[in-house]
Amino acid sequence: MGEPVRAVVVPAPGEPPRVEEITLAPVGPGQVRVRLAAAGVCHSDLSLARGTLRHPTPLVLGHEGAGRVVEVGPAVRGLRDGDHVVFNWAPACGDCWFCGHGEPYLCENAAQGQREPYATLDDGTPLHRGLGVAAFATETVVEERACVPLPPDIPLSEAALLGCAVLTGVGAVLNSARVRAGESVVVIGLGGVGLCAVQGARLAGASPVLAVDPSPAKVELAGRLGADEVLTPGPSLARRVRGLTGGRGADHAIECVGRADTIRAAWSVTRRGGRATVVGLGPTTAEVTFNALEIAFLARTLAGCMYGNTDPAVDVPILLDHYRAGRLDLGALVSRTATLDEVGSAFADMESGTGVRTLLTFPD
Ligand SMILES: [Zn+2]
Ligand SMILES: [Zn+2]
Repeated sequence: MGEPVRAVVVPAPGEPPRVEEITLAPVGPGQVRVRLAAAGVCHSDLSLARGTLRHPTPLVLGHEGAGRVVEVGPAVRGLRDGDHVVFNWAPACGDCWFCGHGEPYLCENAAQGQREPYATLDDGTPLHRGLGVAAFATETVVEERACVPLPPDIPLSEAALLGCAVLTGVGAVLNSARVRAGESVVVIGLGGVGLCAVQGARLAGASPVLAVDPSPAKVELAGRLGADEVLTPGPSLARRVRGLTGGRGADHAIECVGRADTIRAAWSVTRRGGRATVVGLGPTTAEVTFNALEIAFLARTLAGCMYGNTDPAVDVPILLDHYRAGRLDLGALVSRTATLDEVGSAFADMESGTGVRTLLTFPD
């Protein structure tokens, strides 16, 4: 049997997460045990805890993390003891129709790691890995394909955010929207993903890069990461954007909130023929409406986007090149660090829109 580890457990959807001692199952074929160094607290963790995102429970939260491999199971080919890794929460199988058609971010089997229990509570209750990862724990056991190897010189505390916020936000701009140099971009919502989308727009050479967020506290940081101007949301937003984009509206909007009104705003700020890319995951109860004329007449595209339409094995090394060259700021996204026991306060910050990312750090 594995050794006991501490983990943030959600007993059932809607129940408050609590730190528990858990026992990991033995490392199986194709699996590795990873000791966490750092894990980002993402909005999807809150959605998992609340049950807005459906998932088998009880589960261990956390899907944006990095650490060191401490045990390798049989038939693991690409990882060794001591390797540094960042997690991929939607690992592609390589065999399904989507994988075969160059869309690994839509892999039919990406959620397989969530279904099989991987650990137990004290009383023997089986536990599921949150999004196949379970990174809010001192250690986890994951499939080898849920790990992207990292060069040893990259600080694990910075690399953790690559696994969700950065792939999702930068990928939305570069891989999904395919923004080109000189195009105008509006990013709606300046959480971790939104600020990564701002950086993605800067990497693409977009101009102007406009950001939208109600919090004045985000203005300075968004400017530092590439926003030319930060606008407050409101009924006049589309008019203000047109005023900054030659009277037309933006070529692109990247929606990073997942609410009906912000999705509608992303649509409204784009020009005729423009494209709104929706990254935010909203609840199934929210409805977005369009009148029957505007869809054809405005000739806009409303597109969804999963995991930034990335293949982490391909895109993480590209992001690391940008990071090394100083074109991608990972540290700026972390507003504070916390311990495993402080997840509750990190959730409270997220709900009140305070800060950007809380990073859980683990003692060596
Ligand atoms: Zn996430
Ligand atoms: Zn697949």
